[in-house]
Amino acid sequence: MSKHTPQVGFVSLGCPKASSDAERILTQLRAEGYEISGSYQDADLVVVNTCGFIDSAVEESLDAIGEALAENGKVIVTGCLGAKGNVVQQAHPSVLAVTGPHALEEVMGAVHEHLPKPHDPFIDLIPPQGIRLTPDHFAYLKISEGCNHRCSFCIIPSLRGDLVSRPIGDVMSEAETLVQSGVKELLVISQDTSAYGVDVKYRTGFWNGRPLKTRMTELASALGELGAWVRLHYVYPYPHVDEVIPLMAEGKILPYLDIPFQHASPRILKAMKRPGDIDNTLARIRRWREMCPDLAIRSTFIVGFPGETDEDFEQLLDFLEEAELDRVGCFTYSAVEGAAANALPGSVPEEVKLERQAIFMDTQSEISAAKLAKKIDRRMTVLVEEIDEEGAIARSYADAPEIDGLVYISNGENLQVGEFAEVVITDADAHDLWAKLV
Ligand code: SF4
Repeated sequence: MSKHTPQVGFVSLGCPKASSDAERILTQLRAEGYEISGSYQDADLVVVNTCGFIDSAVEESLDAIGEALAENGKVIVTGCLGAKGNVVQQAHPSVLAVTGPHALEEVMGAVHEHLPKPHDPFIDLIPPQGIRLTPDHFAYLKISEGCNHRCSFCIIPSLRGDLVSRPIGDVMSEAETLVQSGVKELLVISQDTSAYGVDVKYRTGFWNGRPLKTRMTELASALGELGAWVRLHYVYPYPHVDEVIPLMAEGKILPYLDIPFQHASPRILKAMKRPGDIDNTLARIRRWREMCPDLAIRSTFIVGFPGETDEDFEQLLDFLEEAELDRVGCFTYSAVEGAAANALPGSVPEEVKLERQAIFMDTQSEISAAKLAKKIDRRMTVLVEEIDEEGAIARSYADAPEIDGLVYISNGENLQVGEFAEVVITDADAHDLWAKLV
């Protein structure tokens, strides 16, 4: 009779950074011979990877822990919520262990304690690229953890600590393995990608024996040699961001920058304690576009921050109209427990926040529709995401997965998911494009 292989259930909530932690834990579990169970009933214990960023995420995480306890009974909690004092233990005293984010060893220690390692793990259970939660053709590449800024609305630094950059050799080896295993697109993530290496004074590391500085430009350039799409997320507009634009113009990395501006009124940005200098931003965007006309810029903004006046909001709209960003998300300000901004005066009534959000999105919608209409008749390379009865659904260089738009290919039914295709754009709305294979 075969011995029972220990089974671990896994529930992962939260952002791409949390997913990246989850991937490491899953990889380690499989490497040690544990099986990952698809149901609470078959699992010997359950690991819940939580998010604690906003109050609704806290609730969602606590509910998920409650459900795992009710369905299985043996639960280990990890992730951001675990770093928030005793919140988890108070709500669910029967959990077996609680750790914070980025705590692979602690999680594995807790698993070993409550569910001993199998004696004879198959060493080849684990593919070299590890276990990933994203589809096979794209992968998030986390380059650092934590953040040196102290934006007044954010509690990430208190949850995850100051910036710690991963060694550039490790990042490059991971990226190389991912590409060798069939990944077509690498999404570089962190809390602040442009600050990569600041904590180690841009130390020189090694990749395949070649010296490389721990710095965003050097990393982007080396990633660009791997032959996959490389997309940069969470880039703050520091002066050295100018250095990656030529890499985009040369086609080494995607001409795409995700820059969370959050606002455009210097007064509000000061209250938010945001990094970067907004005064020169418009001129820089103009210069970047001269260097790389295809550059797609994505950003997020917060409206209704404490003290935001009609004038501040007007300034934000003016910026939006001048900057003509390609992709934009807009959130209404909501207080996060423990954030310094909660103590600021001038809270904005909920209905005003919602009204400003609607005006903001209408304004952007027009900008976006006009920008996308200019793409009609252009040829583009797209990456296929899904095939359905109407054809294929893909993404262009300007579309990050899940947050940006899509390209619908009417005659793409014979394409494969994860394949690059050449299309010509036939139609556009304010968000998506329609195309035909060329
Ligand atoms: S840059 Fe600001 S918003 Fe982003 S993680 Fe750091 S403190 Fe939070």
